[in-house]
Amino acid sequence: MTNFKITSIKARWILDSRGNPTVETDIYCDNNFARAAVPSGASTGELEALELRDGGKKFNGKHVAKAVSNVNNILANYLKGMDIREQNLIDSKMIEIDGTENKSKLGANAILSVSLAAAKLAAKLREIPLFKYLYELSYGTIRENYLLPIPCCNILNGGEHAGNNLAIQEFMILPARANSFSAAIRYVSEVYHILKEILSKKYGKQAINVGDEGGFAPNLSFTREALDVIIEAIEERGFSLGKEFILAIDAAASEFYNGEKYEIDGKQLDENELLQYYLDLINEYPLKSIEDPFDQKAFMGFTKLTNKIDESVQIVDDDLTVTNMNILRKAINQGAGNALLLKVNQIGSLTEAINSAKLAFENNFNVMLSHRSGETSDTFIADLAVGLCSGQIKSGATCRSDRCSKYNQLLRIEETLGEKAQYPTNFKSWKNFQ
Ligand code: PEP
Ligand code: MG
Repeated sequence: MTNFKITSIKARWILDSRGNPTVETDIYCDNNFARAAVPSGASTGELEALELRDGGKKFNGKHVAKAVSNVNNILANYLKGMDIREQNLIDSKMIEIDGTENKSKLGANAILSVSLAAAKLAAKLREIPLFKYLYELSYGTIRENYLLPIPCCNILNGGEHAGNNLAIQEFMILPARANSFSAAIRYVSEVYHILKEILSKKYGKQAINVGDEGGFAPNLSFTREALDVIIEAIEERGFSLGKEFILAIDAAASEFYNGEKYEIDGKQLDENELLQYYLDLINEYPLKSIEDPFDQKAFMGFTKLTNKIDESVQIVDDDLTVTNMNILRKAINQGAGNALLLKVNQIGSLTEAINSAKLAFENNFNVMLSHRSGETSDTFIADLAVGLCSGQIKSGATCRSDRCSKYNQLLRIEETLGEKAQYPTNFKSWKNFQ
């Protein structure tokens, strides 16, 4: 008979995609085990749950020995004997032991590694795919067909993720009219390689070096230059702009806000000027999704922009809401944005991340699943995107294993589902799937 009781937990440090240490945890029920590793951001929101790092000399202060020890010497003792299928109880137990608002005692990295590993093992022991288990965990029922997400692929990197002068952090392309996820990811890959050729011809070989998320990091200085060269690549491949491909950006504007003005394209803009800047871009380009357009405290700016756009455009809250239900509630009440960026490590447990996504959906917000700029080969978020029926995921470019691992997992899920896999027709496709 299968034993569902946790028998042991073992954490260790491993290296993430930037070469920094991060926490990886194995969780066991007898000889069965599952493993999860946590990611790490660069343009982090101030109110994110705390990623516990040791300070001191090892790894230049970034070591995670304390977080690892907190799993092995504290959490393991409390969680042994608990039923692996009780995700809610496991997560609330860890939150209780930590006892702080932002998981600063044990570390969100410690808690999340256990939380994700537990869900993986529960799915394994129940002999169902992780995405199905996550659907059941989220919505309390089972279903036959599933929604694959639109891959929002960051093919040109700027901001904190690249050594260039672009203020905007991420330039994404969305294959919005594909028939399937596999076709969608192929289209992105084709455009990506054409973009590489164009960049190399126009700006020289240095322009094809890539940033943290696998997108190219050419030494451009202006947002429009980046958008124009991406459009050139899309059109050269023969795709029609605005139909087969739409564009998205993550401005990550906190990173170019100096406390008074936003420094972008060689100018210093106040909030209203930056608002007009985005409206002009929406007018000129098929730009349908803007993430973190203003500083992480500027709820009013988000509200003003949301009020100015129509339903076809998304304003995505990332640093503003940090996957935190309480802050998301405030954004919903103020009409600040109309979509949530969901990053599991911003909040530090699976249960809380699912609850934030559900709160967003209940209030007609879209949800985009997201990686971090520092990643591992862990593919949990791919299954979570399908399990939540989010209809959108961003995992960087179609380049570098840490980014492709998520897209590759989605290819496998699509294959498993066969005809029961569906591809979104728009940002709101999730409405038919919950
Ligand atoms: C983001 O800002 O959406 C992002 C993925 O970057 P980071 O992980 O550096 O916060
Ligand atoms: Mg962001």
